[in-house]
Amino acid sequence: MTTGTSDRVRALLADVPTDLLVDGNWVPAASGRRIDVLNPATEEPIASIADGGEDDALRAVEVAARVQRSWGRTAPRERSEILRSAFDLVMARQEDLALLMTTEMGKPLAEARGEVAYAAEFLRWFSEEAVRIGGDATVSGDGGTRIICTREPVGPCVLVTPWNFPLAMGARKIGPAIAAGCTMVFKPSELTPLSSLALAEILREAGLPDGVLNVVTTSDPGSVVGPWLASGLARKLTFTGSTAVGIKLLGQAAQHVMRTSLELGGNAPFIVFDDADLDAAVEGAMVAKMRNMGEACTAANRILVQRGVADQLAARLAERMGGLVVGDGADDGVQVGPLVGPPALDKVERLVGDAVARGATVVTGGSRPDRPGWFFTPTVLADVRRDSALMSEEIFGPVAALVPFDTEEEALEIANDTDWGLVGYLYTRDVDRGFRVSEAMEVGMVGLNTGLVSNPAAPFGGVKASGLGREGGRVGIEEFLEIKYLAMPRRTLG
Ligand code: NAD
Repeated sequence: MTTGTSDRVRALLADVPTDLLVDGNWVPAASGRRIDVLNPATEEPIASIADGGEDDALRAVEVAARVQRSWGRTAPRERSEILRSAFDLVMARQEDLALLMTTEMGKPLAEARGEVAYAAEFLRWFSEEAVRIGGDATVSGDGGTRIICTREPVGPCVLVTPWNFPLAMGARKIGPAIAAGCTMVFKPSELTPLSSLALAEILREAGLPDGVLNVVTTSDPGSVVGPWLASGLARKLTFTGSTAVGIKLLGQAAQHVMRTSLELGGNAPFIVFDDADLDAAVEGAMVAKMRNMGEACTAANRILVQRGVADQLAARLAERMGGLVVGDGADDGVQVGPLVGPPALDKVERLVGDAVARGATVVTGGSRPDRPGWFFTPTVLADVRRDSALMSEEIFGPVAALVPFDTEEEALEIANDTDWGLVGYLYTRDVDRGFRVSEAMEVGMVGLNTGLVSNPAAPFGGVKASGLGREGGRVGIEEFLEIKYLAMPRRTLG
């Protein structure tokens, strides 16, 4: 990092709140404890945030429950305007927010800028949805009853987010919750909390009333989220993170029969048929694999390639991957940043070692570069065997694993041979095959001749162990609304 950048980062960090947000005030944790936040490119501490616990959690959820009544009755236009102002503020500070994100999470600045815009778009999208919450009125089959349906906010929500998209994952939940009229208690990841804390402060500036959004950071997630779910005060859980933690929280939410949305892990197949436009497939694979250094639930975990083009795809991907500039994401020209921490790095090393031990060939990369920070060199593995651990575990790193196949049926069989079902990608020039394979893939989202599906206007979410519910799109707000049905006898005149 250059001295100029360091000064700028220091100035930015000085402005970010590092305490808990409860009832509109930034307050230290009751215990007085703090947690260090590290820069994964340097392994150095960059900030110290409040380490909340059960007492802080209970205060926050009591506030959210108290404020729900008045907040739920605000005019939709008022909620819409707050979100729209927040969108404007986020975009006005895009550069600062991007640098903050890169410093706490590692992704290159260009990608961080993209995430800031993506996150902001959820605020704008849901500002537009706030004033379009619909209902309907109909008449029963026998004509004797009026059936009038309205939508009400589901109530106080528990928001829990992962570290890999530090701004967008929170915005994707906060946007619809505000639009629907729900209050919130929010626990961002302890690894990358600063972007979320900055967003909370922006929402305050945008006019969000005290107590609507409460934020508790902690080194012990169970001691905060557990009491929220057990309190009986929150009515909804919306979680993004690993399947293992999601399953645990689903069980806890069941105690109070809470509405639950889960955005969990993935194991995306990326299928390249031999009739594909290979230029487009290579471009798509680079995006689907390398966005966020491979640390994405949508990352192409298994690149299935028809045997006729397997060598060509491996060579072309290796050329592109091998040419990527690895380094501190804050530095100009860097295309691949560090992984989030030592456990992530250990996991990638283990999965590559296992695949090679089972017969895969390293076409490029395959190891850690010799430098400080949690870096892994962009890697292409060819001829990956189906019994390799990375076929059933999220790699979450810059490793493209190529698995050869012969027929369409075989590709589909491999693609669906997983507990997960978030997204699948396929490249083909045959329209009929494109639809056929898309329909047969057991996933919530399909990228047909594209390596990017994330879009605020689209319903994001998975099937099987990848989750419950959808975020974004026209349906995103529904997750935060309950339908109330009013029955009324109907007598006709004349
Ligand atoms: P994680 O499950 O370890 O953590 C997610 C959040 O849960 C964090 O805030 C963490 O502090 C909290 N948490 C952890 N243990 C908890 C507990 N016992 N009780 C309550 N909260 C707890 O996941 P992660 O490592 O932060 O994120 C990576 C995972 O997230 C990957 O599996 C990835 O696929 C998934 N993910 C999914 C989506 C999606 O939209 N489907 C998006 C991004 C990431």
